Amino acid sequence: MKIICIGKNYQKHIAELNDEKPSEPMFFLKPDSAILLKKMPFFIPSFSNEVHYEVEVIVKIQKVGKHISSKFAHKYYSELGLGIDFTARDVQRDCKEKGLPWEKSKAFDGSALIGEFVAKESLGDVQDINFSLIKNGENVQNGNTQDMLWCIDELIAYVSQFLTLKKGDVLFTGTPAGVGAVAENDTFVGEMNGIKNFEVKIK
Ligand code: ZN
Repeated sequence: MKIICIGKNYQKHIAELNDEKPSEPMFFLKPDSAILLKKMPFFIPSFSNEVHYEVEVIVKIQKVGKHISSKFAHKYYSELGLGIDFTARDVQRDCKEKGLPWEKSKAFDGSALIGEFVAKESLGDVQDINFSLIKNGENVQNGNTQDMLWCIDELIAYVSQFLTLKKGDVLFTGTPAGVGAVAENDTFVGEMNGIKNFEVKIK
């Protein structure tokens, strides 16, 4: 399986990184080795002094598809969840400055936390999901999928022009504002529509 991550899909997050709004969606990949094993803590890698959390709604692809139209994209997923796209921000900044790919900062081991997947029907309108990240008891990121620049179906349509989507692939749909650095002994809880979806400790 592969993990496809969308960047810059919430206006306020683009602003906090001083980035420009893209004219079309942008994506990058994480390998399956990036998945943080269930119940495991996240270990801050030695090559970064500034690992950021990015909470994101994630979508599990349920069948193979290429050149999917956004009108039919909803048929390609029936479960969604929450995840964290851990990002070595210092390394990413360096890559951006040098015009290099981002993999070192985004695709490293443990960088993809995948929470519980829940049935689409239980969430109501997928473009009106409230989600949040709570750090040591304090709310640090709040988002709603209605604030996406490109909705889930448009993202699937866009990505599938370039990549064949396969059963089991996971799409990270971008993070809202409020990203920040993780520190040892932090605990993060992700909530989707008020229901706890994951918990992770930082080591
Ligand atoms: Zn992200």
